[in-house]
Amino acid sequence: MSNKSANNLAPTILDLTPDAARERLSTWVEGRKLPRFRGEQIHRRLWVQPVGAWSEATELPAALRAELEAEFPLRRLKEVVSELSQDGTRKFLWRLDDGEAIESVLIPSGSRRTLCISSQAGCALGCVFCATGLMGFRRNLSPFEIAGQVREVMLRDPADKPSNIVFMGMGEPLLNWPGVDVALTILNNPEGLGIGARHITVSTVGIIPGMKKLAARPEQFRLAISLHAPTAERRLAIMPIEKKYDLKAVLEAAAAFRKRITFEYVMIGGKNDSDQDADALAALAHKHGALVNLLPLHPGGAPGLEPTPSNKIKNFAGRLQARGVEAVVRRSRGLDIKAACGQLAGQTGSDLTH
Ligand code: SF4
Repeated sequence: MSNKSANNLAPTILDLTPDAARERLSTWVEGRKLPRFRGEQIHRRLWVQPVGAWSEATELPAALRAELEAEFPLRRLKEVVSELSQDGTRKFLWRLDDGEAIESVLIPSGSRRTLCISSQAGCALGCVFCATGLMGFRRNLSPFEIAGQVREVMLRDPADKPSNIVFMGMGEPLLNWPGVDVALTILNNPEGLGIGARHITVSTVGIIPGMKKLAARPEQFRLAISLHAPTAERRLAIMPIEKKYDLKAVLEAAAAFRKRITFEYVMIGGKNDSDQDADALAALAHKHGALVNLLPLHPGGAPGLEPTPSNKIKNFAGRLQARGVEAVVRRSRGLDIKAACGQLAGQTGSDLTH
C-alpha cells in the first residue's frame, strides 16, 4: 500500500531538489557550450519564477526554449475545478498524468495565505471522520506532484503565492517519506519556493519511523499530531492506526522535536468531547507543551457521526484553557465547497482532510 511507487512516470527535472536540478542543468548547458548564466536563467524558471511552458521564458533564445521543451518538459497538474467559497477559501481539484485526482485548499487570512496540500492520492488509514479515508489508498505522490500544487497556484496568480503550507490535504505525509522529503526541500530552499521552515507544518497521525526522519532534518519544520482522542482506547475507536503506533509511543517520538508541537483534535459528539476527555487532553498537552487546535466535525466523513455543538466546543476549550493549555477553536473554512478538514474526497465538481 503505502510503499507503492509514486507513479510509473519517469522523474522529471521538477522532481529533483533545487541543488540536484542545478547540477543536471549545468552539465547540460556545458555540454552545449552555452554560457554558464544560461543554466541559472533556466533554473530560476523551475520554482523561483515559474513558467507553465518553456515557450513563456522569453529571456531565452527561441531555439533554446524548443530544446528545453524536448529535454526537460515541464509537467503540470491539470486544474479540473477551482471553487471559491463565500469566505474566500479556494479549493482546487488537480488531475495527475495517470488520471488520479488530488485536492489543495488555499485559505487566505489577513496577510497570510495558507495552502493545504495533499501528499497521497487517497489514504489507507481509514479514520472514521474522514472522506479521504473512505476513498482508500490510490498511490503516493511524487515530489513534483506535492510541491507542484504550490507551483500551479503561483502560475494561476503570482499574488496567490502561499506564505504557509500545511500537509493536511489528502493522505498521510509520513507514509510517503521519499516524496515528502524532497518536496520539503523544494518548498523551503530559497532556490526552490523559499517558504520558511517554520511556516511549513507536517501533520501526521503518528507514523513513528517518518517522525524520526522528519526530526532528523536540520530545518525547523513544524509538526502537528492528529490526536483526536486523549486515551488509547478512545483513539482506537476512531483511528485504526492506533493499533500499529499507539498514543504513548507517538507522544514519545514527538518529544524529539525541538519546536512546539500542535495537537489536532476533531470534536465528535459523544466520542471524544466529554469533560473527562478535556481533562485527559489537558494533561497530555501540558506534559508535551502542545498547542491544541479544536476542529469542528464537518459533514462528508463517515455517516452516523454527530458534530459536537458549538457551545460545547467552547466549554471544552475553556476547560483546557483553565488548565493552562493554549487551545484554539478553528473556524470552519470553505464548508460550502466541501473544502474543510475531513471533506476532501477527490470528486470532480464536489468534494478534501487530514
Ligand atoms: S484523517 Fe488523514 S490519515 Fe486519517 S484517513 Fe483522513 S487523510 Fe488519512
